[in-house]
Amino acid sequence: MKIHEYQARDLLTSFALPVPKGRMIESAAQATEAFAAAAAGMATPLVVVKAQVHAGGRGKAGFVKLVKTAAEAQAAASFMLSNRMISPQTPPEGLEVKKVLIAEAADIADRKGGGKEEFYLAITTDRRTRRNVLIASREGGVEIEQIAHDRPEAILKAALNPLTGLEPFVAREVAFKLGFKGKQVGQAVAIMLNLAKLFVQKDCTLAEINPLVITPPTAAHPDGQVLAIDAKFDFDDNATFRHKDIEAMFDPAEENPAELAARKFGLSYIALEGNIGCLVNGAGLAMATMDTIAMHGGRPANFLDVGGSATEQAVTEAFGIILSDSSVKGVMVNIFGGIMKCDIIAQGVINAAKNYKNADGTMGFKVPLVVRLEGTNVEGGRALLESAKAALPTMQAASDMGDAARKVCAAVA
Ligand code: GDP
Ligand code: MN
Repeated sequence: MKIHEYQARDLLTSFALPVPKGRMIESAAQATEAFAAAAAGMATPLVVVKAQVHAGGRGKAGFVKLVKTAAEAQAAASFMLSNRMISPQTPPEGLEVKKVLIAEAADIADRKGGGKEEFYLAITTDRRTRRNVLIASREGGVEIEQIAHDRPEAILKAALNPLTGLEPFVAREVAFKLGFKGKQVGQAVAIMLNLAKLFVQKDCTLAEINPLVITPPTAAHPDGQVLAIDAKFDFDDNATFRHKDIEAMFDPAEENPAELAARKFGLSYIALEGNIGCLVNGAGLAMATMDTIAMHGGRPANFLDVGGSATEQAVTEAFGIILSDSSVKGVMVNIFGGIMKCDIIAQGVINAAKNYKNADGTMGFKVPLVVRLEGTNVEGGRALLESAKAALPTMQAASDMGDAARKVCAAVA
């Protein structure tokens, strides 16, 4: 589960990480007040207006703007709320922006030798070493993906201790390697240690700050201040049940509608790029089905596990979800009845077929359908499908999984 940057900033603040103040707004009319709140206490107001979407690359796309007046803030918010944001991290058609963050902008110190003092800092799980790992770079900011690709040596990695988490001496070593000086070192170390605590306590799969910046020196802070000015989080979906505060940040507007519908009916559904819809019971069988389709030259349009005890209604919903994807040109049903009874699945298929309304208003499935049933009550299931042939003109029965994959691949070829 992902959250927005404004929520990520609140989370960082609650773990004592330094973040400039800001406010989320949902209409350009709220921009004037939000600008005043962000600029409060600044001698020369500098405020940043940022689109809130679950994708990065906003800076380069023109969806992060520095402004000096309320009028500029309103114009920037109005632009972002009425244009789709397109970046390498969004689908080609971009994302609609429904929320905007208006925050106090940080002044970023110039770096000796050119550029700005922008760093990259993240914690994630490294599956190869089976450790949580701190990833850091002196070259943070909007080019980090390019740098990781071209000069991987510019990225530092340090493992967290599985029992004690990030150890202070490790954090200090990283801070020195990144080039922090004087009082910056202690600030950077505190940020790393608190981020590591947050990562573990909230069951994150990713906690990322990019950029972490140093502000120019002032009388009060002769070495400048180390601040987080953008953050991204991802959480383990299987653990959100024990974090009501995180769960409350869920924004359905940012999710794939088909995946949302599936979740409501207890189905595990993940949209993929192919054109063969799959309806399967059990995650292992679903994966084997996808592999078998691929082996026969086809490409699955989704992963869908209806679970061990799906009802007729869940099966009907599952078909609705699969067929709502316009790229689906054929459907393969692959059921191995254990706890699940084949006659219930068959009845679900028949009900779904009879009640399925196409975009042009006609009823019934139009796409080729291949059904393979095996296991508990299979005779009953097959008899039901046989007797409902009129309602399922596109249906073919298959004798086993390989046969089903072969038939559905041939049907969409
Ligand atoms: P992203 O492109 O979606 O990752 O958005 P970011 O919030 O990281 O902003 C992109 C870039 O805009 C940063 O790397 C900074 O160079 C600049 N930027 C963002 N916020 C501020 C700010 O408060 N002050 C200054 N001076 N620059 C900022
Ligand atoms: Mn960023």
